[in-house]
Amino acid sequence: MSTKIIWANHASFFVEHEGTLIVTDPWYFGAVFNNGWELVSQTDSFYERFLTVDFIWVSHEHPDHFHPPTLKLIPEERRKDVTILFHKTQDRRVIDYCKKIGFSVKELNAGWEEIVKDKISFYNEKNGVEDSWVIMKLNDTIVLNLNDCIISDNNTYQEIKTLVNGKVDVLLSQFGYAERIGNPDEPQLRKTEAKFWLDSLIKQVEILNPDFTIPFASYKFFSHDENFYMNDEAAKPWEAEEMILENGLSKPIVLYPSDEWEVGSKNDNSTALNKYKTDWDKLKPTNYETASSDLNQLVSQADEYSTSLLKIFSPSIKLANTVFASIISFNSIQFYLKDIDTTLSYSIRNKTTVEKGRKINWDIELHSESLKYLFKFPYGTNTLLVNARFSSSSKEAVAKLYRLAHLGLMVSANEKLSVPYLMKNFTKIIATLLKRNKIN
Ligand SMILES: [Zn+2]
Repeated sequence: MSTKIIWANHASFFVEHEGTLIVTDPWYFGAVFNNGWELVSQTDSFYERFLTVDFIWVSHEHPDHFHPPTLKLIPEERRKDVTILFHKTQDRRVIDYCKKIGFSVKELNAGWEEIVKDKISFYNEKNGVEDSWVIMKLNDTIVLNLNDCIISDNNTYQEIKTLVNGKVDVLLSQFGYAERIGNPDEPQLRKTEAKFWLDSLIKQVEILNPDFTIPFASYKFFSHDENFYMNDEAAKPWEAEEMILENGLSKPIVLYPSDEWEVGSKNDNSTALNKYKTDWDKLKPTNYETASSDLNQLVSQADEYSTSLLKIFSPSIKLANTVFASIISFNSIQFYLKDIDTTLSYSIRNKTTVEKGRKINWDIELHSESLKYLFKFPYGTNTLLVNARFSSSSKEAVAKLYRLAHLGLMVSANEKLSVPYLMKNFTKIIATLLKRNKIN
């Protein structure tokens, strides 16, 4: 029984099996993360195939994986025949949205094999706050999509190995960094980080021993002139291919948009790699329109943002509240707004203040448009950490952003700071707090 993989882009690929067409994480055009990332290669050649898809699996809510404008390419009248597969979440935001725009939906229970159609099943498992990975079983072909997941515990690998009876046909995993690493003048930090991701891919290959490995989910570039420097040390697919070849345990497969590969067959990667080389050579920042924000509006937005963050603190658990608040929050973050030469002092518990010029104790330098975005959405801080449209005065300054981002993600996921939350997420919180020690 044959299984064909047809390449789309970034983290998106089609699986064609016995007349059923599945696609993962479709993002085919446009900038994401507040004009922070774009695709390295164009993807307009397979829209027709996308329009005939039966199932769309979405790994997580980041816009390079869950991209509503791409989903909407499918005409409204066809959407009910297309099923979106997404893991169960507390907030049900993705599922509800997809339903609202007319798709059929199926929620996947974490840690459970769900039959999707005939002999096709999905075993979805959560990873970290938002991510998830999936084992796709197509008769006896196993496609393991690890996506952006950072798997640091051996138990998860053991779980996977047991589930697949020790046999993975195709492993797909991220090969490059995907968040802000260092200021422009710190390429060494990015070099180290790039190596970390490539080494992690090899580690996965060594543990899981797949027949074939497709390095993916890193076909994006930092596309704004404020973050273009981040591309200087980003891992390229030919580096990933070379490392897999050198390691010798698995055969690397590199596909260019629209390339087709029959699982199990040989593939000559050189044509795809040459095309990627050409695309990478041509990259340049996009000239986005960036408008300065109104200062008064920013201040009131900041105060509203604090109100929304404070909602996660449950008044019934005063002690945990006080302890947690004192560790995770901070006195203030000093945002220096370079376009309007003003420092905005933000604190969750105190009123926002502004002062002309750059204060000596500034933390984060950014455009006022970016700060507006940060306050506008609960996940705004996270977006800033991904899109790297800022520079920092110190590691501690970035650590403050990580702590703020954690609170924002809690709001976004509808989590309350309760005793059960503290217990369930103890290690995660400690990890966030400790992150300041290895912040770049
Ligand atoms: Zn992501």
